[in-house]
Amino acid sequence: MSTPGLSYVPNNPHSPWQMYLQQVDRVAPHLGHLERWVETLKRCKRVLAVDIPINRDDGTVAHFEGFRAQHNMSRGPGKGGVRFHPDVTIDEVMALAGWMTVKNAALNLPYGGAKGGVRVDPKTLTRPELERLTRRYTSEIGVIIGPDKDIPAPDVNTNDQIMAWMMDTYSMNVGATATGVVTGKPIALGGSLGRKEATGRGVYIAARETARAMNLDISGSRVVVQGFGNVGGIAARLFKAAGAHVIGLQDASGAVVNEAGIDVDTALDFVANGGKLCEFHGVVPISEAEFWDLKSDIFVPAALENQLTEERAKTISTKLVVEGANGPTTPAADDILHDRGILVVPDVIANAGGVTVSYFEWVQDFSSFFWTEAEINDRLERIMVEALKAVVHTAEKNKVSLRTAAFIIACTRVLTARELRGLYP
Ligand code: GLU
Repeated sequence: MSTPGLSYVPNNPHSPWQMYLQQVDRVAPHLGHLERWVETLKRCKRVLAVDIPINRDDGTVAHFEGFRAQHNMSRGPGKGGVRFHPDVTIDEVMALAGWMTVKNAALNLPYGGAKGGVRVDPKTLTRPELERLTRRYTSEIGVIIGPDKDIPAPDVNTNDQIMAWMMDTYSMNVGATATGVVTGKPIALGGSLGRKEATGRGVYIAARETARAMNLDISGSRVVVQGFGNVGGIAARLFKAAGAHVIGLQDASGAVVNEAGIDVDTALDFVANGGKLCEFHGVVPISEAEFWDLKSDIFVPAALENQLTEERAKTISTKLVVEGANGPTTPAADDILHDRGILVVPDVIANAGGVTVSYFEWVQDFSSFFWTEAEINDRLERIMVEALKAVVHTAEKNKVSLRTAAFIIACTRVLTARELRGLYP
């Protein structure tokens, strides 16, 4: 099926939005009578592009580009993170919003999909500059966000402090403390226990459940993780705690190996205290090509999009890919991995632990009644395991990949809601 291009996104076949569209094309034949609504998924409901001027500490004024894309709200308010990265584009933010629609529906969370981003390298800003950028961005997108409209959260290079500034800015503008406008906040401001670890924990749960079904023992397995931030770092820690050998890691500073297994907990402390992963004791720095040549049982891409490309899919030596990042595997690479018998647990399930606990946080904020960490982890575990089971069942029934299966479940939910609501006016 050909995809009508939108005039405001570049027609680049390798862009994240085009990748997302190809994934939608793959699900369309499985949607039965709902296929007539599939075009809904190939557009964003609303995309806002904003200018963010800030005073630099040196007295000059700098301008940054910001976006918030609301892909679909048929099932509830928009939900999805905000990333600060120099490569952010409108195209990328739209794709990430589309993946949030699918992720939220696949997990049956009562949300639509949204995403935001600012085209900036936050490492080039001082803390006061970062605060001014965050506050001005929040003010600019303030017209379309809100606890019952669209709820941002952390993503690449954003954290609980940034969520605190976003919550404060929005609250000052509406004249009331609105904790439910963002999730991933500090605990002292209505944040949820377990939220910080939730995405990494979900990645681990997805890997554990799938490995079990493949008769692959996590204990003693060789794990390689790309990304050592909030997702990759926590997942690596949980793999190690389960007895796996995390033999390779890569972050923005470079890639490292230790065939006997990296001491992940100490490495996390080292990096948290400003150390560079490639300077950590007991690891050997390796090149990017060597990193992709490492032999593993489980490979976790937990950095950015477009990492597992066609070329890399041909040579990667692993049994199971668990996507911690959003959009790390291209559709062409998906096919190659499938032909090579390498199973891929797709992002829209594998990294859904974050938004699941975001949902718990939002519910807790509304009722001002907070749960224990054990309750949160227990509920996360149950939701993830059930969603995975449904995806595996749908994949077997329809003889499709786990990704297309997750899209079948999610898009059926979204388009059923779309059809029941009907067109306005
Ligand atoms: N940024 C995370 C994701 O990509 C979490 C989004 C959220 O919690 O709303 O799923």
